[in-house]
Order: sequence, then C-alpha cells, then structure tokens
Amino acid sequence: MAWRETRDPYRIWVSEIMLQQTRVETVAPYYERFLRRFPDVRSLARAPLDDVLKAWEGLGYYSRARNLHRAAGVLVGRHAAEVPRTVEALEALPGIGRSTAGAIAAIAFGADVPILDANARRVVARLFAVEGDLRSSAAESLLWQRSASLVRKGKGRDTALAVMDLGAVVCLPNAPRCPVCPLRSRCSSFPRGLQDSIPPKRARKSLPHHDVVAAVFRRADGALFLMRRPPVGLLGGLWAFPSGRRGPGETLEDALRRSLREKLQVRAVIQREVGAVQHAYSHYRITLHGFFCETRGGALPAGEGTGWLPLREEGRFALPRADRTLVEFIHREEER
Ligand code: SF4
Repeated sequence: MAWRETRDPYRIWVSEIMLQQTRVETVAPYYERFLRRFPDVRSLARAPLDDVLKAWEGLGYYSRARNLHRAAGVLVGRHAAEVPRTVEALEALPGIGRSTAGAIAAIAFGADVPILDANARRVVARLFAVEGDLRSSAAESLLWQRSASLVRKGKGRDTALAVMDLGAVVCLPNAPRCPVCPLRSRCSSFPRGLQDSIPPKRARKSLPHHDVVAAVFRRADGALFLMRRPPVGLLGGLWAFPSGRRGPGETLEDALRRSLREKLQVRAVIQREVGAVQHAYSHYRITLHGFFCETRGGALPAGEGTGWLPLREEGRFALPRADRTLVEFIHREEER
C-alpha cells in the first residue's frame, strides 16, 4: 500500500478519500494513476473536472472525485495549496468528515486524534464490547470516546495505522482472527464470545430493480453520442448514453422512444439491441439495455453538455461502468 510509505499530506488525503467506501485492493492502481496525473494540490485544482472524473472512472461514488477537486480549489485559494493540519480545518473542506479529518491529521501530521471509519468502528466496538445498533447517536458518541481513549500522547499516527491494520487483517468483519490478535488480552468481546455479534448483522435487503433503456447514436466515423449527467447526484458530471427508465407496462422500445422524445425532442428509429448490462448501485439494481438508434425527425442536441465519443479513443469522457460496458460491446462487435 503505497500510501503507507508517505508522509505527504496531499497523498494521504487522496488515499483516505479513495478508501472511503472502496476496498484497498481496488484503490491501489487508481491511487498510483491519479497521483501520476495530479501529483500535487495545484495540478488537481487546475485540472478540468472532466479530467478528474476520467481518472476516477470505475472507482464509483463520484461525489468523492467532485469534492476532491473542489477542495483542491479551496486549498489553493485559502490555504496556499497546503493541506491543513487540524481536524477542524480539514472538516471544513468538501468531502471530509470527522473520521477522514482525524485520519489525515493523525497520519500526515501525527496529531493525537481518534478515527472512526468503518474498520475502526468495528474494532473499537469489539474491543469495548459496545453492543446494539452502532449507528445510534448514543453509540456513535460512545465509540468516539472509546476510540479517543486508545490514543496515547504522541502516538496518534501509530494508533490510527494500528487500528486500521487490525481492522483490515485481524479483526475482520466476518470470522475475526481472535486467537492471533495482539489485543485479545485487552478485548472485552473475545472472552465473552461477542465478536461475531458485534456489530449486529443487518438483514440484507433485496435491492429494487429497474430496466433502463439507452440509445446509441453512431456517427459515420463511428463516434458515439453522449450527454453529460447533471453535476450533482448519482454519477454526477459523468457522460452517458441518453437513457430513461422503463415505466410500468411499457416495452423497452416504447420506453426508449418516449425517453428520447421527452429528453431530446427527437423521434428515433430503433435498429437493434447492442446488449444488456447488469449493474448494482448502493440502493438499487439496473439492467441497462442499449439499442442502436437513428433520428427520424429532430436533430440531436449539440454544444454544452453533449459530446461524441470517438470509438477508438478513451478521450476525456468519463463514463459510468454500465455505459462503458456498452461501449465495449460495440468495440467487440466491430472487431468481429
Ligand atoms: Fe477483534 Fe478478536 Fe482482536 Fe477482539 S480479540 S479486537 S474481536 S480480533
């Protein structure tokens, strides 16, 4: 983990943002690529948002990239392009909550402050046998207190890293490795056999499913028509095929024709299916059905918020994973 070998606050900040909601193995290649592309705060602040989203493509939770970019602008404007040292100043930046602020302050600057990311939350809850719903405000406050009690004077960095490591390799979500845990003699859960019930397992809810239809308009040179999604919200700022959700009782084709009329004011002829892609977001699942289309009445919009993706070039467009898969289907078909 390259971010463990640095004391550079910028690099630690980038790694902590990437590690929010994403596993270490997934983050590693993105981290290296991102830092090659944006080696410091100024280069990140200067870059167009499109470039930042492109470097983030596939990592998901794109608000993190948008906030990182905005925060870099704030750092250049108000902090002389330096990452601030205190939890309070860090927390004032877009995309940085209390735990991320604590992690950056502790790891980059050695501050004696606690952390409470997902791994730390589990480790601390088990160490102190905090039972019940850990998301309640009472539990939250208790966990912060307990996490703070682990920090010895002058050992903020070591404590943050140790808690993270323990959570990543020993005090695992399922089947914690208590017999080899260096903290087992201090752990309140292990001797009482509570480690498997803390935190309590939540019943996995089945996610609702939606059929989404997408239009693939292809120019004579092979370029594909894309539209930029609104700047905030799910996949905000990314480029995607024009699409819409299938309504009750609609066929996929009817849904696509309706969506194109409503969104682009064009009448379309649907030629054939490109393929279908399954994808899960945090709160729902989709099947994205792509169709080659041609306009028959009305022209595709041009200008701001629209673009043509050259077929053989990654270019500047960051696409959601499902749309990127449709592009791959088209590539493969062309190669046959
Ligand atoms: Fe976690 Fe087990 Fe170690 Fe306690 S003894 S901290 S439950 S791994």
